[in-house]
Amino acid sequence: MNQMLEVLQENTLNITEIYKSVQGETHLFGLPTLFVRTAGCNLRCSWCDTPYSFGRGTSMKPSDVMREVVDSGLNNICVTGGEPLLQKEIFPLLTHLCNEGYLVSLETGGSLDITPVDERVITILDIKCPGSKMHQKNYWRNLEQLRDHDEVKFVLLDRADYDYAKDIINKHRLLKMKNPPLLSPVHGELDPKDLVQWILEDRLNVRLNLQMHKYIWDPLKKGV
Ligand code: SF4
Repeated sequence: MNQMLEVLQENTLNITEIYKSVQGETHLFGLPTLFVRTAGCNLRCSWCDTPYSFGRGTSMKPSDVMREVVDSGLNNICVTGGEPLLQKEIFPLLTHLCNEGYLVSLETGGSLDITPVDERVITILDIKCPGSKMHQKNYWRNLEQLRDHDEVKFVLLDRADYDYAKDIINKHRLLKMKNPPLLSPVHGELDPKDLVQWILEDRLNVRLNLQMHKYIWDPLKKGV
């Protein structure tokens, strides 16, 4: 471990789970990936599929996390939650992962400032829609901080969420981003066929973002 990580060793992270799978979403879809799921979330989305991440998790040193990263033998690392940005120790870990040459993505719920995130990290920024009952928590200034390789994701419960997402996409010119906005139907709630129809009717150049792992495995299965 390099010197930077030794300095960090006293500051532990709360981790829910670390596991290998394929990335089921975003433009990194299908790539073998190591997921580092942090513990704790400041939101309570109505359709949340990872409420088991709300607890305190396991306390781990960054060096222990890095050991699991190295042992995985994988190049793609996705830091997810819960809400990873709740723990300030995540920022130097993200930078360290980038320094070590990993392709690093970060999934954040969109209520906290992404400014301190290393610019090499691919940030997947959620914008919460009304169906989540968390849309009042969106931190809108994040949209001014996005880098070219970042992505914006909307999880949609129903048609009202779709219309809300469309308004935000147009208002903030998100179609100008390199990666099109991601539209994800809530699994088991919104039929993807309906969403595809709306997208085509509107000729909206977004990416349908199905959670592939929910089609490969039981949708309730953890750690996949
Ligand atoms: S931000 Fe993510 S982890 Fe937190 S409640 Fe919403 S869906 Fe669940």
